[in-house]
Amino acid sequence: MYSRTCDRRTFLAALGAGAATLALPARGDELPARKPNFVVILTDDQGYGDVGCFGAEGFETPHLDRMAAEGMRLMDFYSAAPVCTPSRAALMTGCYPLRVGLPDVLFPQSKIGLNPEEITIAEILKAQGYATGCFGKWHLGHHPEFLPMRHGFDEYFGLPYSNDMIPSPERPPGYPELPLIDGEEAIETNPDQTQLTTRYTERAVQFIERHKDEPFFVYLPHSMPHVPLFVSDKFAGKSRQGLYGDVIMEIDWSVGRILDTLKRLDLDEHTLVFFSSDNGPWLIYGDHAGSAGRLREGKTTTFDGGQRVPGIARWPGRIPAGSVCREVAAMFDLLPTFAHLAGSAPPADRVIDGRIIWPLLSGRLGVQSPHDTFYFFRSDELQAVRAGRWKLHLPHTYNRIETPGTGGKPGKYAQGTIESALFYLPDDPGETRDFAAAQPKVVERLTAMAHAFEQDLIADARPPGVLAEPE
Ligand code: MG
Repeated sequence: MYSRTCDRRTFLAALGAGAATLALPARGDELPARKPNFVVILTDDQGYGDVGCFGAEGFETPHLDRMAAEGMRLMDFYSAAPVCTPSRAALMTGCYPLRVGLPDVLFPQSKIGLNPEEITIAEILKAQGYATGCFGKWHLGHHPEFLPMRHGFDEYFGLPYSNDMIPSPERPPGYPELPLIDGEEAIETNPDQTQLTTRYTERAVQFIERHKDEPFFVYLPHSMPHVPLFVSDKFAGKSRQGLYGDVIMEIDWSVGRILDTLKRLDLDEHTLVFFSSDNGPWLIYGDHAGSAGRLREGKTTTFDGGQRVPGIARWPGRIPAGSVCREVAAMFDLLPTFAHLAGSAPPADRVIDGRIIWPLLSGRLGVQSPHDTFYFFRSDELQAVRAGRWKLHLPHTYNRIETPGTGGKPGKYAQGTIESALFYLPDDPGETRDFAAAQPKVVERLTAMAHAFEQDLIADARPPGVLAEPE
């Protein structure tokens, strides 16, 4: 089990004391002389098909499309979980969620959160002199000891968990009102959700303006388009698709606002902006859910619709404009990649699942994914593995949509069942044609790898942070 407090302090001290020596040797993609800024824009439940340049229909995303035209589209980019909390745990720690003890969604009643012993992407960058700000939905524990300010962020403004975690007849009695937090203080309850996208964005813009002369890391995890959907007057009724399309158009506006700010401050060439979604579309909400495009299923499932998400990376002069990456990369790769670009390194005293994907992002020819395998978990159950172009599902059940909802009300699930099934993703992104019978050796190899990895991960899993009981 994990109890290495001293190691963590030593590591952070080492980072602050010139960890540039820990950096991997640079090659054709040498490190910049000036530490780059990082901006991560993360949406909530936006599907793989919900960006114009990923095939969206019924609404436009001109700013995201421009971001992709000026940078790279990652077509095989995976969230490390098909639901909110574990996906964000992976982003912050560079690890599979189960490894850091957060494989499930947290609720206002939860007494756990991101372990203070974990080293977050913000802490690594802060040790390198970065100003760090988080503006949006956190969802890694709402008690003060788990909030962003205790995990390496200088500033926090946003909802501590999902925007649907509010009192309702379906919730237990005494369910708390939704708090809006500034720093560690609830400054409002039940905030006007039509203003969330705008308020998060403006706080991020102000942060960038204040820190334009030093390296900064901005994490902008929007609450939208997680249901219940809300949009400001600026975009209400603007899309042909309806409210969901309006909401995405407002997020696209937000992306444009960030990009315009960077340009105005002459920071384009010093800033890597990364856009993605925490998991696939929540299809049970029907017309209030997005689309996974050609991918199968959506949120809560380990089919690609649940975890393959749009990925867009932009850094003019560093990431080739208009490029496309079809190699497997994942949300947990951002931590080691940003650490590397900042002249640091991921923690060396623990297992980190993420890998440096800068060779992919910088467009070096012929570079392959650093991941021989990528594993798909639902909660603590390993359900699938991707190795190269093959994806094997182990036998499991999943939420199949029986009746999609309408108008913000959920529809009905039925239990879906899948036996051991093997799909060849390049030809069949919808995971429909099973090659298990035709390719028994591949099935055997991937099954063995999956079981071995599961054993390793369980043996090495670290606990979540647990709320201290009052004396
Ligand atoms: Mg989500």
